[in-house]
Amino acid sequence: MQKYSGFGLIRHALSYHENWQRVWRNPKPGKQYDVVIIGGGGHGLATAYYLAKEHNISNVAVIEKGYLGGGNTARNTTIVRSNYLWDEATRLYEHSMKLWERLSQDLNYNVMFSQRGVLNLGHTLQDMRDIERRVNANRLNGIDGEVLDTRQVQELVPLMDCSANRRYPVLGASWQPRAGVARHDAVAWGFARAADSLGVDLIQQCEVTDIVIEDGAAVGVQTRTHGVIKANRIGCVTAGNSSVIAKMAGFELPLESHPLQALVSEPIKPVLDTVVMSNHVHGYVSQSDKGDLVIGAGIDGYNGYGQRGSYPTIEHTIQAIIELFPAFSRVRMNRQWGGIVDTTPDACPIISATPVENLFFNCGWGTGGFKATPGSGNVFAATLAKGEAHELARPFNMFRFHDGSLIDEHGAAAVAH
Ligand SMILES: Cc1cc2nc3c(=O)[nH]c(=O)nc-3n(C[C@H](O)[C@H](O)[C@H](O)COP(=O)(O)OP(=O)(O)OC[C@H]3O[C@@H](n4cnc5c(N)ncnc54)[C@H](O)[C@@H]3O)c2cc1C
Repeated sequence: MQKYSGFGLIRHALSYHENWQRVWRNPKPGKQYDVVIIGGGGHGLATAYYLAKEHNISNVAVIEKGYLGGGNTARNTTIVRSNYLWDEATRLYEHSMKLWERLSQDLNYNVMFSQRGVLNLGHTLQDMRDIERRVNANRLNGIDGEVLDTRQVQELVPLMDCSANRRYPVLGASWQPRAGVARHDAVAWGFARAADSLGVDLIQQCEVTDIVIEDGAAVGVQTRTHGVIKANRIGCVTAGNSSVIAKMAGFELPLESHPLQALVSEPIKPVLDTVVMSNHVHGYVSQSDKGDLVIGAGIDGYNGYGQRGSYPTIEHTIQAIIELFPAFSRVRMNRQWGGIVDTTPDACPIISATPVENLFFNCGWGTGGFKATPGSGNVFAATLAKGEAHELARPFNMFRFHDGSLIDEHGAAAVAH
């Protein structure tokens, strides 16, 4: 990997930036890999990186139909936290949090992880009881968390209207100080660069159109542009398109694909140095380093693969944010977009073997998988390397929807994030 000095930057500026070295190779796909990963989002790239780094398996290809990180990874609002309710989920997200805390050093790439804290507001007595229960559960799992009252919330976020006469007064909040945000593109690029340097082939503009199955075992993928690419094991990490790939392999996943939208405002001066979420009024907001307000809320109610949503959802989201921050009614919105999120019946992911031997899925992260990117990749890499679930992934197998051992995280994941 070429390193650029300050002089290098000046030289490139003078040559109109025409001679930059590629940050990763653009290889031709080989005929046979130890592992093929379908989907070059953050989770797929992280899986490839940890396969090479921790399991010494670098004969790996990541096959991406578009460009790396161009799916939900590029479209999300980057909230990272680990304060879920149930032990299984908390352990998985906290595993990820610990990886986040050293990720820039590990990848030698600044992913701009900013632990500015996340507030989940409570507006009713029931909200506050749920918050207390969740914070207690978090603490029992060794996760940082506090229950704040109205005054403490107001001190943290002076601009928010915490007055008692609001339609939905703020009664308090849960507060996870180690939570925060990261730079989504940098996460994809950091994992891609590191995986490439360990020998992983990153194949872009290459759509998988079928799974090649022989005697009940997956042996390769059929692609639109490069024919069949063979593999000993295949990991599918395609988020909102996962049920499409499962259908290719002849089984169904309990997933619904929905549009999820977000929007950003024009940049304004720094006014918000934490992340504010409210399940009750149903919206969340943070402020990027550039100054934009980054805003999101819930899924659009219908199913679709369109990567765009409907206007009423955006209108509802803005109403929620203005309920909390009346001053933001003067801010103009700059742009809006949508991704396709894959939701499961228990709001928890699927990290699992499948009915087809050698074919594994990592999906169902729905509205909240960005925060899990390093942890998800880490446990999925171990699962693919050994052919059996990593300890933290075991509760998230797809067969839980048959035997009923669901891990219901709808409470902790109620507003999309
Ligand atoms: C608007 C929005 C806001 C969100 N906010 C947050 C948040 O604040 N915090 C949080 O934790 N999560 C959030 N999420 C969820 C989060 O973005 C996702 O859970 C996470 O990014 C999923 O990562 P991934 O790598 O699995 O999927 P993706 O990044 O979507 O990658 C999947 C890749 O698979 C590729 N692919 C699909 N089909 C094929 C095929 N047939 N052949 C080859 N490649 C294929 C796609 O092109 C895509 O690049 C949000 C999502 C959205 C849409």
